[in-house]
Amino acid sequence: MFKSNENLATIGGSDRLSIECLKVSIESPVHMSVKLISTDFDGTLVGAHEGLEHFFELVKEQRKRHNVEWVINTGRNWESLVTEMHDRSFPILPDWLVLVEREVYKICRDHPVGDYDWNNCCEEVHTSLFNSVPDFWTSLTEFIVEQTSAETISEEHSPIAIRASNDDEADRIHHFIHGLLPSYPQLAMMRNSVYFRFAHEAYHKGSGLQRVQEHLEVGPEATMVIGDHYNDIPMLDSTCAHFIACPSNAIPQVRSHVKERGGICGHAA
Ligand SMILES: [Mg+2]
Repeated sequence: MFKSNENLATIGGSDRLSIECLKVSIESPVHMSVKLISTDFDGTLVGAHEGLEHFFELVKEQRKRHNVEWVINTGRNWESLVTEMHDRSFPILPDWLVLVEREVYKICRDHPVGDYDWNNCCEEVHTSLFNSVPDFWTSLTEFIVEQTSAETISEEHSPIAIRASNDDEADRIHHFIHGLLPSYPQLAMMRNSVYFRFAHEAYHKGSGLQRVQEHLEVGPEATMVIGDHYNDIPMLDSTCAHFIACPSNAIPQVRSHVKERGGICGHAA
C-alpha cells in the first residue's frame, strides 16, 4: 500500500509560534483521549508566533505517554515542506503527512512513504475532472487576465493556480470563483491566504485526515485539529475531529467556524 517517496534532510533545533490553544487543549484531563493531532503548517505551526518549541515538547511527551501521532496537513508539496522544516530546524518530524491538501504519506525512517491506493486514485480522479471542465479554465483565465493583476502559477496539482497581489484582490477572486463553481459541481476551490488552487470536492484536508484515521483506526472522538485559513475548514469539522482549535492569527471566518462548533480560539499573548 505504501511506496517510498524520497530522502529527507536532517532536522534539529527550535523555533517559536503561538500554539497556546493546542497546549491548553491537550493538557486538559478531558482531552486525554486524544490519539491523533492534525496541524496545518503555514500560519499555524510557523509564522510570526510564539510557542513552537512548547508544541514540539508536547508532541514528544504525548507520543511517549499516550502513543499520540501527529500529522502535518498542508497545501505544500514535500520539497517545499521539508525545506521549510529544515530551515526552521524542526527537532522532530510528524508521523504522517497530508500534502497539497490531498495526498497521504506516512513518515517511515525519516522518509515520506505514499499511500499508493489513495494517492493513485486521487491523481486519476483529478486528471479526469480537470480535463472535463475546459470552460471553467477559460472563464477563470479571462477574469484573472482582464480584471486582476494576479499571477497564474504553473503547478503540478492544479491546471491553474493563482497568486493574488493582495488580500483584497484575493477576496475578489474568491467571490468570482464562488459564483462560477455551482456550474461545476465536482470542482472545489482551495484557498490559503492569497493562493488558490483547485481540487475534486472529495479531496481536501478533511478527507486526507480521515484516510490517516482509517490507517490508525482512530476516530474523530480521539482527534484534535488546528488550522488558521480557508483550506483548513474541511478538517475543522466534527466528522474529522471532536477537538478543534485555531491560533490567534486565524482569519475571522475560521475563528467564527471554530467558535460556533465549541472549539478553542487562540488569543495573542
Ligand atoms: Mg495555514
